[in-house]
Amino acid sequence: MAGITFIKVSKIYDNGYEAVKYINLEIRDGEFMVLVGPSGCGKSTTLRMIAGLESVSSGELYIGGELMNNVDPRDRNIAMVFQNYALYPHMTVYDNMAFGLKLKKVDKKEIDRRIKEVSKTLDIDTQLNKKPKELSGGQRQRVALGRAIVRNPQVFLMDEPLSNLDAKLRVQMRAELIRLHQELKTTFVYVTHDQTEAMTMGTRICVMKDGIIQQVATPEEIYNKPDNLFVAGFIGSPQMNFYRGKLVEEESKYYLIGDNGEYGNFKFSIEVENKENLKSHIGRDLIFGVRPEHIKLTEEDGLKAKVMVTELLGSEVHVHIHVQDEIHTIKTDASTHIKSGDIVNVKPYSNKIHLFDPETQNALR
Ligand code: ADP
Repeated sequence: MAGITFIKVSKIYDNGYEAVKYINLEIRDGEFMVLVGPSGCGKSTTLRMIAGLESVSSGELYIGGELMNNVDPRDRNIAMVFQNYALYPHMTVYDNMAFGLKLKKVDKKEIDRRIKEVSKTLDIDTQLNKKPKELSGGQRQRVALGRAIVRNPQVFLMDEPLSNLDAKLRVQMRAELIRLHQELKTTFVYVTHDQTEAMTMGTRICVMKDGIIQQVATPEEIYNKPDNLFVAGFIGSPQMNFYRGKLVEEESKYYLIGDNGEYGNFKFSIEVENKENLKSHIGRDLIFGVRPEHIKLTEEDGLKAKVMVTELLGSEVHVHIHVQDEIHTIKTDASTHIKSGDIVNVKPYSNKIHLFDPETQNALR
């Protein structure tokens, strides 16, 4: 087991492209850290630097307190599971799992013991004599995991390991990986572009964009207190709704006022944690964000808007409305009679409004 520390680490590829920019990140011993962000933001590069598959261009990378910049991948005691599993097709499941241990000259009996134990945990103990092509996608994924686990690494690295599985299996494997982490108590670093995977699996999440870390926090913190506009929009599905409006103060209460074209103006009251911090923004245009589940339908006042579409998702309905030339989403319960073309009145919960500075895009609170 080991923690991982990045100090001012950058990665510049040979063609001059800076894929990771001066990151500081502390991955704690035994935690399940998920690196998440859109395609191309530098997640895999970060993971591959931990593995030693990419060199560190500048800065320092430590695993278990030891500087790793010049340590060979084989000497790092880490295991990596890839999206395409990278199993040897001509070898049986057993031999695939044994391969790394044989190279390390582990005793045959010990290899056998570990494979039997791990294959039971992963429910592939009846598949040991098969070749990878005789297995389902989910079973192959388990073999890839098993091959990593038998090596007893101090760090597990996973790069989009579930993206080749169908939706149902993905959900199942997600739960298994969480269980596996609880059982092994080893440091997991997991790369995904899927915010649902990040939210459900990570003990902490590191959100990246353009090679820069945007926020590192628990799923709850990231969801409830996103540090900037990007994190607010990236995490959560359907995504947070953003309005343009002005912050005003009336009788020491705060309101946000805005304009929704032909449907007129709106005014929302807002509760803020720290009024002092917002004083300098009174009278200024801000961006404010509200999650779909934090908006209620009202009879009067609030914001008037036209319904574009409604989607029934079993227990709830997503109502998509037209606001300030964008489509906003409201979650409501399945009993609603709202239909497309209706004009609705909506109002965000006053204590659930996120404020952002339109210039810096940072959260104001
Ligand atoms: P992610 O995993 O977030 O999708 P990557 O870390 O794979 O992103 O890539 C980050 C950026 O670095 C991308 O723009 C990608 O095109 C670029 N990149 C990745 N590998 C190389 C390479 N070997 N040479 C040059 N650029 C690369």
